[in-house]
Amino acid sequence: MRTTVDYGTGEVRTLNNGVVMPALGFGVFQTPPEVTTRAVETALETGYRLIDTAAAYGNERQVGDAIRNSGIARDEVFIETKVWISDYGFDETLHAFDKSARKLGVDSIDLFILHQALPGEFDKTVDAYRALERLVTDGRVRAVGVSNFMPGHLTDLLERTEIVPAVNQVEVHPYFAQPALQEANAERGILTQAWSPIGGITSYRGDSERSTFTDPLILGIAEQYGKSAAQVMLRWHLQQGRSAIPKSVRAERIAENFDVFDFELTAEQLAAVDRLDTGVRGGPEPEDITLETFGLVIPEA
Ligand code: NDP
Repeated sequence: MRTTVDYGTGEVRTLNNGVVMPALGFGVFQTPPEVTTRAVETALETGYRLIDTAAAYGNERQVGDAIRNSGIARDEVFIETKVWISDYGFDETLHAFDKSARKLGVDSIDLFILHQALPGEFDKTVDAYRALERLVTDGRVRAVGVSNFMPGHLTDLLERTEIVPAVNQVEVHPYFAQPALQEANAERGILTQAWSPIGGITSYRGDSERSTFTDPLILGIAEQYGKSAAQVMLRWHLQQGRSAIPKSVRAERIAENFDVFDFELTAEQLAAVDRLDTGVRGGPEPEDITLETFGLVIPEA
């Protein structure tokens, strides 16, 4: 299997199985299907080579269309997608791969991850992960991982499976940085990939008193470099070794979020951003995920 590829501009991360992935990617959660194709085409034109989608986002087909429309070779775009909990189980998850691959219009997926742990039905989570391992063996996916796994979930998974997840995609932004979870990932050789990396969830949920985009400390740092708050947050991720997958549907922000490779924060500035952590999660509590409350059905086509 080829482990190195030229992903153009930007940094890369080498995963624990040697596969190389762009560090900065493009997310499409809450991007409606009718605008996804254009948004992903714009991202690819801008230089992004990692696209993060999910079966649960309902836009895998449009992500695939955009990649084909771009004319960029399939192996120069790193595609990451996620299995939803309603498709957990060994056979069910193998079938979930077929559904995602069909919608994306690809034979193989670069990084295939479990979207959530199902803490109350962990056997099902393990069976789903075993299907991911089978897909690696069969050469259908290049790397496997998890999302929203807490340290206990990782311990339980690692005890019962063979392949250490390459990535744990979790909520990380200046207001909720999960340092203990990041440490737990690092100890196990798992790359932390930040979702809501610029704190989108602190503003689009509308119930937070503060937004990372208007935070005085972040804006103060941004001003020193002639950059934006989002750009400072993305530097914070990159310089601390994470992968990050900001989302936008606006061309100017898609470009802004990729224009982060020409400045560097100081150690003091990184530490100051670290201190903004409130310990308050924006997304759902991982322990509370159940099929009853989050059991969305993923269509066949
Ligand atoms: P982000 O931190 O990427 O923020 C996105 C929000 O910020 C959108 O409302 C966007 O609006 C706005 N925005 C984007 N760029 C800028 C900018 N430069 N200045 C000001 N505002 C900006 O949050 P997301 O929650 O979307 O997370 C990113 C990705 O992470 C998702 O798309 C998805 O791929 C993944 N994710 C994974 C989850 C999981 O459970 N595994 C959960 C949540 C997200 P607009 O589009 O109008 O520009």
